[in-house]
Amino acid sequence: MIDFNKPPLVGNEEKYVLESIKSPKISGDGQFSKRCHRWFEEQLGCKKALLTTSCTHALEMAALLIDIQEGDEVIMPSYTFVSTANAFALRGAKIVFVDIRPDTMNIDETKIEAAITPKTKVIVPVHYAGVGCEMDTIMALADKYHLFVVEDAAQGMMSSYKEKPLGTIGDFGTFSFHETKNYTSGGEGGLLIINNERFTERAEIIREKGTNRSAFFRGMVDKYSWVDIGSSYLMNDMSAAYLWGQLVEAEKIKENRLKSWKNYYEGLQDLADKGLIELPIIPEHCEQNGHMFYIKVKDLKERTALLEYLNQRDIGAVFHYIPLHSAPAGLKLGRFEGEDRYTTVESERLIRLPLYYGLKPADQEFILQSIYDFYKTA
Ligand SMILES: *Cc1c(COP(=O)(O)O)cnc(C)c1O
Repeated sequence: MIDFNKPPLVGNEEKYVLESIKSPKISGDGQFSKRCHRWFEEQLGCKKALLTTSCTHALEMAALLIDIQEGDEVIMPSYTFVSTANAFALRGAKIVFVDIRPDTMNIDETKIEAAITPKTKVIVPVHYAGVGCEMDTIMALADKYHLFVVEDAAQGMMSSYKEKPLGTIGDFGTFSFHETKNYTSGGEGGLLIINNERFTERAEIIREKGTNRSAFFRGMVDKYSWVDIGSSYLMNDMSAAYLWGQLVEAEKIKENRLKSWKNYYEGLQDLADKGLIELPIIPEHCEQNGHMFYIKVKDLKERTALLEYLNQRDIGAVFHYIPLHSAPAGLKLGRFEGEDRYTTVESERLIRLPLYYGLKPADQEFILQSIYDFYKTA
């Protein structure tokens, strides 16, 4: 069986986790959390990095910080994970879905302006497959209409747009350390980065159950108390220790994934040249992190057949994202603005191939061969 995903494990995790559980502080913001925070602040060049329990929670924190109210509107692609929408729907917002671009599967930046109303509060670009959205256009719109920008960079750690790390361009960036992402904190985990300094202090409070405990620990206030709404969004230090084991090898993990990515790309070129499949497109000004390799086939029927063929050969190929606007909750909580020209049809043609740190060349060879075999018999 060739799994679709194997959580990365570079070998340092055990050592750091053991060190963490023997330390006097194993809850949030312990020594490993601090190391990770510093690493992100340096690596990404952001004002503030705060580890969270998940990317979902980092998105929820962003929605709380920009004070999303009942009836506010939030613009995002429909082709994304449910958390992108849930975080804002939880605060009573209406989700306004906009079509994607067929080349990158990212939100079509040219369709955003038509979706803006007096109720619009925030744009949420999702950097699909760790490939940057057209942030220059999105930031210019945000500026023109005084909107916030929350980058869902769940898949985008170590990727950049015009040399700027993904997640550092909008007011906030959110990342995931779920086991399916490039770096994991041992299953579940996330990160909120704050690029707009006016939110830093309140972010610490919201993350610490609405208390000023973070300032208290730094000796800035002499007692801590309940000062705002909040929840418990801190990652525990053992998870941060696990993550730390991977951050010190961040480049190695990225290079390994990119090598496999390129292998797929070159290996499938012939089928693409024959017009049988389409390969992913990475705009020249975007640097990617090898998070995902997908191909697009003719249509839904062919996708179903190819998936079945690969699964029968024990290859864990998958598809994902039923567009949110067509899901039961999406119908209730959102609306699609403009024409659904690409979201549905492109999502139905997409197949993700196994890609993870340490994918064996022989396994990859078998996957490539199997795709060629399918098109020989098809
Ligand atoms: C994985 C993912 C999330 C959710 O991340 P969690 O850490 O599992 O909460 C949100 N958005 C996108 C685009 C994702 O890929």
